[in-house]
Amino acid sequence: MLRIRLGLDIAFAECITECKKPDGCGAKANTSFYNGRHAMTVCGKGDRIINHNKTRDWIHQMYRRLGVAAKKEQKGLYSQLTSYGQMKPADVLLPGSSSPSGVSWALDVAVTDPTSKNALAKNSHKKPLVAAAIRYEQKMTVHRKALEEAGGRGLHFEKKPLVFETTGAMGVETKKWWKSVVELYHAQREPGEPTSRRELGLDYTWSANHFSSFWLQTLSLCQAVALAESVDSWVSHHAPCVDVLGSICE
Ligand SMILES: [Zn+2]
Repeated sequence: MLRIRLGLDIAFAECITECKKPDGCGAKANTSFYNGRHAMTVCGKGDRIINHNKTRDWIHQMYRRLGVAAKKEQKGLYSQLTSYGQMKPADVLLPGSSSPSGVSWALDVAVTDPTSKNALAKNSHKKPLVAAAIRYEQKMTVHRKALEEAGGRGLHFEKKPLVFETTGAMGVETKKWWKSVVELYHAQREPGEPTSRRELGLDYTWSANHFSSFWLQTLSLCQAVALAESVDSWVSHHAPCVDVLGSICE
């Protein structure tokens, strides 16, 4: 986890010459192999979906703890559209009764890599959150097309892509969403109710004893662990066996 955070090469990744099919995507060794980026965000056959799913599950659970009837993987939101019939626009569907606009929010989690070629071409190495902005726009472009195809009937939800970068950073729109979550929490608190999770008998740590700190750290740690595990799993699967003398066995 620390090596990924520091951008250092991952142990044994230098031995991998190919992301072998059928379990891998067939790509030949490149820089993204050595720093783990291939497993985290590039390889379609990797475990990168685990990070997405864990983030989705925690967001869903957070809303449920707030007493909100949020739904996970809600289907059928685009069902009136032929070409988009199979798409699921919501990882978590927030009901209109709990959204600031009064209309359901289709929360769509995405994780993107600021070191991808696409992001670097847009100066992600100089400007923060560029990669998140690119991914957000991609998601909204698809949604706007769906909205156009829906015509006069419209769509009965608002699309809210929640983009995180592999560093754990929230995109600009994701930060706005987080602000809405905190406002929802405050709106539900009774006057005089303690804010300390310890006093409320809830899970806490010394640095995560309030609603915001607890859930932000939960999301952050969940992503860091999931990314590290996806890299570990990929390296274990693709690195050749090495004997005690350092010779490759296969
Ligand atoms: Zn691959």
